[in-house]
Amino acid sequence: MSDRNDDLFSAARAVIPGGVNSPVRAYGSVGGTPRFLASAQGATVTDAAGATYIDLVASWGPALLGHAHPEVVQAVQEAATRGLSFGAPTEGEVELAALIADRVRFGEIRPIERVRLVSTGTEATMTAIRLARGATGRDLLVKFAGHYHGHSDGLLAAAGSGVATLALPGSAGVPAPIAAQTLVIDYNDPEALAAVFAEHGPRIAAVIVEASAANMGVVAPLPGFNRLIADTAHTHGALMILDEVLTGFRVHPAGFWGLQAAEGEDYLPDIVTFGKVVGGGMPLAALGGRADVMDLLAPLGPVYQAGTLSGNPLSVAAGLATLRLATPEVYATIDAAADRLSRALDAALTDAGVEHAVAKAGNLFNASFRPSAPRDYAEAQAQETFRYAPFFHSLREQGIALPPSVFEAWFLTAAHGDEELLRIEAALPLAAAAAAS
Ligand code: PLP
Repeated sequence: MSDRNDDLFSAARAVIPGGVNSPVRAYGSVGGTPRFLASAQGATVTDAAGATYIDLVASWGPALLGHAHPEVVQAVQEAATRGLSFGAPTEGEVELAALIADRVRFGEIRPIERVRLVSTGTEATMTAIRLARGATGRDLLVKFAGHYHGHSDGLLAAAGSGVATLALPGSAGVPAPIAAQTLVIDYNDPEALAAVFAEHGPRIAAVIVEASAANMGVVAPLPGFNRLIADTAHTHGALMILDEVLTGFRVHPAGFWGLQAAEGEDYLPDIVTFGKVVGGGMPLAALGGRADVMDLLAPLGPVYQAGTLSGNPLSVAAGLATLRLATPEVYATIDAAADRLSRALDAALTDAGVEHAVAKAGNLFNASFRPSAPRDYAEAQAQETFRYAPFFHSLREQGIALPPSVFEAWFLTAAHGDEELLRIEAALPLAAAAAAS
């Protein structure tokens, strides 16, 4: 029987390519009709047919505090009454940039000296790469297979997220000379890193890396790997761009980098990109880093970047409210929920006899259908992906909304309390049984 979601999907496909404005939303790899969401509150989302689900997508990360946190909504409403967009500097931008710089601190060291606000994670990484090229006078970029940094031309080679979900090698429409500027190597592979620098070192502007990979499933860096990237890049006069769009302010007040620093791993990226949580659910992202690099951006320097909506006052209000509410207790709550749920997921799949591995990085986790947690993209792809669709749909029928792809992390929020966790735990055995068949 068709419901409002089916009707909307038909209508959407008539006017929007594939019926969606971002590919993974189309449910291509799990099948069925995407839920058209009408509202979201705390730990739940409600679809156009009126069904409510406990949400484990969290808008793909931003909803750290839970959906529509009243203080964040109020901050946005108040900002809206003062004007939607000015195209001029505002006081809020100064506060948000200072707050970001202040949050990323290790003891007395505050490595983010300057912050530029943009509107999307794609813009943040695109600008970071241009900046690295401008700073070094070099062209080549090293990226890791399975890492996703947004959809700018040079970054779609062997990318994770939707590119992985749709099993695409890259994207049509990227000119070969641009694709050739990106050297793709295997993640967590020190020899590949050494080899690419041995061959191309003097031409490499930067290495870009997800602080902890989470767009091919959760694949944490091996101990010391991020540090090795920093050391290798710096030895060869290249920069390290640490992409914290997904992990920044989500796994730790200072991002995955902060988590590693707290565990004693020290390294210094040159440019760090943020997104998702930093905009509190509104379109906002940022790049930050050392003053001598960041000040190469226009209007001070020769590297151009601009945006009509950059530093939009509503987005800034949401970001400020979110970061101010993101106390250590928020992270402790989410960490504890992630520990509990990842254990329940592991147990349910084990009890159902499904070969799997649960991978975790801070409070990010997911399961892959293979004997051991993947260490790189080839291993992430070598799994029984067909098991995810029945698992996903069983949970959906039981009122739990998972990301519609096996290659995505599960996102918890501070609004996921005991009641929600109990309901998910109760639903997991049936879903695991569906995955087993
Ligand atoms: N970098 C990482 C690590 C991401 O996970 C994403 C999006 O998922 C991006 C960059 C791109 O951000 P946006 O979707 O805001 O353009």
